[in-house]
Amino acid sequence: MEERVSVMDMVYYELKDSLKDDACPICALINRNVDNFIDALLYESVNDIKIREDIKNSKGYCNYHAWKLQSFGDPLAHAIIYSDLIVSLIHEIDVFLRATKRCENIENFFGLKKENIKMLKRLKDYLASDNGCPICSMVRDWEKEYILSFVEYVGRDKGFREKFKAGGFLCVPHMFKLLEYCRDKSTVKEIMVVQLDKYKKLLNLLNEIKRKSDYRFVNEPKSDEEKVAWIRAVEKWVGEPGIKK
Ligand SMILES: [Zn+2]
Ligand SMILES: [Zn+2]
Repeated sequence: MEERVSVMDMVYYELKDSLKDDACPICALINRNVDNFIDALLYESVNDIKIREDIKNSKGYCNYHAWKLQSFGDPLAHAIIYSDLIVSLIHEIDVFLRATKRCENIENFFGLKKENIKMLKRLKDYLASDNGCPICSMVRDWEKEYILSFVEYVGRDKGFREKFKAGGFLCVPHMFKLLEYCRDKSTVKEIMVVQLDKYKKLLNLLNEIKRKSDYRFVNEPKSDEEKVAWIRAVEKWVGEPGIKK
C-alpha cells in the first residue's frame, strides 16, 4: 500500500521517521515544529506586525513557551516583544490610576461605587486575561492534524503500522486526543492493543526499579532501559514538555 502514498505527503514521512526509540511521534513532531517556529520568530518574524499583534493580544506566551523562547537567547527579539507588552501594561495601570484618583482613601475605592468596581475589574481582567498562548494554539492544531494522519497511516499502510509497533509509543495526552478525534474505531482499537503492550513493558521496568531498591536485590545490575524507565514514565504520562495533558 505504501506506493499509494504521494511523495509530496511530507507528514507521512515525518511521522514515520519519528517512530523510533519508543517516542511519541506526535510529541516529537510538535516539539520540532515549536523549535522551528521559534527559530523563524527570532530570525525575522519578530518584525512581522501580525505576529507582534498576536503576542500583544494574548498578553505574551504561556509560562512554558515564554521560557522556551528565552532559552534560545536573542536579547533584541525579547526587547521588542516585551517592550510592546510593557507599554500596554503601563497604559492599563495609567488608566486605572487616572480613573480612580478622586478616591482619596482605599476603602472608598473598594466600596460599592460602580465606576470603581468597573475600573478594578478592567485592570484585573487585563492582568489575568488569557487569550491563549499563540504557540499553544498552534500546538493544538498540529496535534489534531498529526493524530488524524497517524491513524490514517496505521490503518492503510503496513510498513507504517509495523514501524509503530516496533518503535512508537503514544503518550497519554495524545492517546486521549486520539479517542477524541478519530472515528475509525477499528484502527483506534488496533493502536490501543499496541499501546497496552508498551505500557505493560514499562510497568515491568518500573517494578524492577522497585524490586531492586530492596536491599536483598540492590546489587543486581540494572539494564539501560531500567535506568531511564522512571523518566520515560513521566514522559508517557504527561507527554513531552510543552504538551497539555
Ligand atoms: Zn505525545
Ligand atoms: Zn504556550
